Amino acid sequence: MSVLPSTKFVSTRAHGKRKSIFFFDAVFQGLAEDGGLFIPTEFVDLYPLIKSFPVEMSFLEMTTTLTQELFSEELSPLEAKKICTSAFNFEPTIKVLDDSIMLLELFNGPSYAFKDYGASYLASMMQMRLRNTRKKITILIATSGDTGSAVAQAFHLKKHINVVILYPSKRVSPLQEKQLTTVGDNVFALEVQGSFDDCQQLVKDAFLDDILRASFNLSSANSINIGRLIPQVFYYIYLWHTLMYNAKGKKGKSDWLFCTPSGNFGNLTAGLLAKNWGLPIKHIIAACNDNKVVPNYLKTGIFHPEPSKETLANAMDVGNPSNFERMLAMCKQQIVRRKQKTNLSFYEDQVKDVDIHREMNKILYGFSVNDTQIKLEINRVYKQHKEFICPHTAVGTSVARQTLQSNFAQANGYKKVVVLSTAHPGKFSEVIKGSCGKTPPIPECLQIVCDKPSRSYPIKPVLDSLAEKLDEFC
Ligand SMILES: *Cc1c(COP(=O)(O)O)cnc(C)c1O
Repeated sequence: MSVLPSTKFVSTRAHGKRKSIFFFDAVFQGLAEDGGLFIPTEFVDLYPLIKSFPVEMSFLEMTTTLTQELFSEELSPLEAKKICTSAFNFEPTIKVLDDSIMLLELFNGPSYAFKDYGASYLASMMQMRLRNTRKKITILIATSGDTGSAVAQAFHLKKHINVVILYPSKRVSPLQEKQLTTVGDNVFALEVQGSFDDCQQLVKDAFLDDILRASFNLSSANSINIGRLIPQVFYYIYLWHTLMYNAKGKKGKSDWLFCTPSGNFGNLTAGLLAKNWGLPIKHIIAACNDNKVVPNYLKTGIFHPEPSKETLANAMDVGNPSNFERMLAMCKQQIVRRKQKTNLSFYEDQVKDVDIHREMNKILYGFSVNDTQIKLEINRVYKQHKEFICPHTAVGTSVARQTLQSNFAQANGYKKVVVLSTAHPGKFSEVIKGSCGKTPPIPECLQIVCDKPSRSYPIKPVLDSLAEKLDEFC
């Protein structure tokens, strides 16, 4: 097997100053010192490796091999195997709706949403490194719902790590609150008397406080951590590989278009990474709810962040997606790499905004749907296929069907779409009942959660209150 050098990472704001760092350093740092986000420096070509994968390869085997290849200098093969085995006791499944639309179900993890992939992998990675250095850390995060429970589950009982989760009082759903407050052990849920923005501000203030940061070794596990994006790249590769072998004979060519329901655009950025790393996909559909700043950018070339609007697909209610900075930087990288093939003296500063806009439009097709369309779609899928889908997935399938009618699909010969299905319908039973009149089954583990005793600690939205709790727990 070919062993590539370890993939290194660089800040989106590095501007040609290539100060690249190893994966573990990027993971523990979270945000780059200049305030940018980490992206890979190099275009590793994983295609030869992907092509060599055997037909019957499990998700676990695939992630282990990919982890080993990507971080060859940082991890031994045995460590890579340990990380993936402890992270993934669940895997994606494919569900066929009809001849033209399929789902990649990503909600088989402990919190029943795709964020389990990122959180589990990050937790296992961190634990592996901490075991070697014997350091103790505190993960501090703010959540408006879903991220918190994925992180709580992922870090539960991980050695050397305490988790402190801040959530806004009375502003998460009752089920989400249960998921956050029933984990226990090394996971502490703080109920902040304020909004989600207050929670985020508290986390920021804590990280800016040198004494707090150093005393508790504060670390973040939020969605901008590159450690959460990498495992999401893996399921795009897994999906492609699986479809390829189902297509029999037409190896190396797939006529499936991928469609990703997006809010903060982490999941979609992972798709772009997969493409940069050699996965032969030409386009990805960015499916949005009424928060449509990215589809608007694709149309107009102007990125205009907005306050987030509340919709039925609430985990996608983001008016200023933080991964957009990564998407721009990656398009720029792509342009520079292409130009430098013929012109060695071409450098980053010569790339214009219009070039980046054009580049992004070459890869992404953006589309948005409103709440009415989400409800109609949930109803349609239930009536036609006897399947419940969550509102986020409904954004995806609704956009997918409309895309198949578009000039874009016609021009590119697309006839089939696979939609990333991001959450278990049982987590959104009210919306689903309101859309199709039927209540989806709630998974057993979620029911168990509802019966467990909750434990949360109310705090005021001020740093002193948080510091007091950190002192008490960590
Ligand atoms: C977080 C989330 C999304 C949006 O994913 P991004 O990576 O933020 O674009 C979509 N659906 C569900 C269920 C989510 O929890």
